[in-house]
Amino acid sequence: MKGITVLGSTGSIGVSTLDVLRRHSEDFRVVALTANRDVERMLEQCREFNPEFVVMANEEAAQRLKKTLAGEALQCQVLAGNEGLEQVAALPQVDDVMAAIVGAAGLLPTLAAAKAGKRILLANKEALVMSGHLFMQAVRENNAQLLPIDSEHNAIFQSMPADYVPGETLPKAVRRILLTASGGPFRETPIAALHDVTPEQAVAHPNWEMGRKISVDSATMMNKGLEVIEACWLFGAKAEKIQVVLHPQSVIHSMVDYVDGSVLAQLGNPDMRTPIAHALAWPERIDSGVEPLDMFSVGRLDFEPPNLERFPCLRLAFEAAKMGGTASTVLNAANEIAVEAFLDLKLAFTNISQVIEATLKELGSQKADTLETILTVDAKSREAASELVAKLGMHTVN
Ligand code: NDP
Repeated sequence: MKGITVLGSTGSIGVSTLDVLRRHSEDFRVVALTANRDVERMLEQCREFNPEFVVMANEEAAQRLKKTLAGEALQCQVLAGNEGLEQVAALPQVDDVMAAIVGAAGLLPTLAAAKAGKRILLANKEALVMSGHLFMQAVRENNAQLLPIDSEHNAIFQSMPADYVPGETLPKAVRRILLTASGGPFRETPIAALHDVTPEQAVAHPNWEMGRKISVDSATMMNKGLEVIEACWLFGAKAEKIQVVLHPQSVIHSMVDYVDGSVLAQLGNPDMRTPIAHALAWPERIDSGVEPLDMFSVGRLDFEPPNLERFPCLRLAFEAAKMGGTASTVLNAANEIAVEAFLDLKLAFTNISQVIEATLKELGSQKADTLETILTVDAKSREAASELVAKLGMHTVN
């Protein structure tokens, strides 16, 4: 039986992971669960999965959970803060770590899992975007293993040669990676109307149900931009080798184009339990609970190139990937600040890309060779982006 830690168990990926795990309780034992503040949902998960450890990143939430659990016949040990997250990512009784904390907060615990040589089911793309070089180095040096959870990267992995290990250089037989994108809720909205779209409209994704931050990233297509950077690290590819293809039905999850003209793809219903089950069982296959794909109701598959005027965040991500160094750390931090401001009604939708572009211009790029540099650049970028939000926001939101 394998031991598993689920980092971010109360989120969208975390809940889907637990749904797959509950179907295979004879093969997996939940050793640790983590969240930030959602005590109610964590309590339910503790009652069902009875983990040895629970971590609430937020101290006050950890205290509340501890008090409530004390009244129940559960043996879960409650930890708090970042140290707790890093600790449960590296426990000796844990084989697999699902890395599903949202945003930069996921970096240190995911890095701790890499340093402890775990099998990492990687949903938190920010770890690679912020510090791809250091993260991949930690994976290699400690014989950790990476299995992509992002549906696109999981599809690429499934379409790669059978002996390919994520992190190796792109095989010579591969000409290009075709990264598919739905185009989000605003694929056809007139560009002039984008300034006034609301958070509710932005998080209403046409095909996928996801957390709020990644839903906004899908609406700006920054999510695809972050995925381009993630793919560069996971598959040892230069950004030029990656083509983004709009595919509104979200049935093909990505493709690999080989030099002999073959294009291999992975298809399925848009349900994250498929890539989660694939990574949990790899190299075997297990039931995920996902409905079989009905090709007749899919009917047709459409493709189109992305319009970079509509989606400037995608252009900025390609630019950051080409700049290298800390440029993608800056991109990620500025994006997190801008998206949060948009969700809090402090910034207009179209100003998200302006904040990111100006922050990138201000901070530029430097060598990303130490964790200290990454964390300093991350903090400075957040400061610069927050100042820009304050300046832009007042003039843009009604
Ligand atoms: P959610 O917002 O739904 O969940 C985030 C999880 O992280 C929650 O458990 C949350 O706890 C926890 N968390 C939030 N902030 C902190 C913090 N500061 N410290 C520790 N834990 C924290 O996110 P998603 O599940 O949508 O996404 C998770 C990751 O997976 C992201 O990196 C995303 O890009 C990636 N991803 C998601 C996909 C999806 O379909 N949702 C698809 C592909 C990738 P709490 O509930 O207490 O706030």
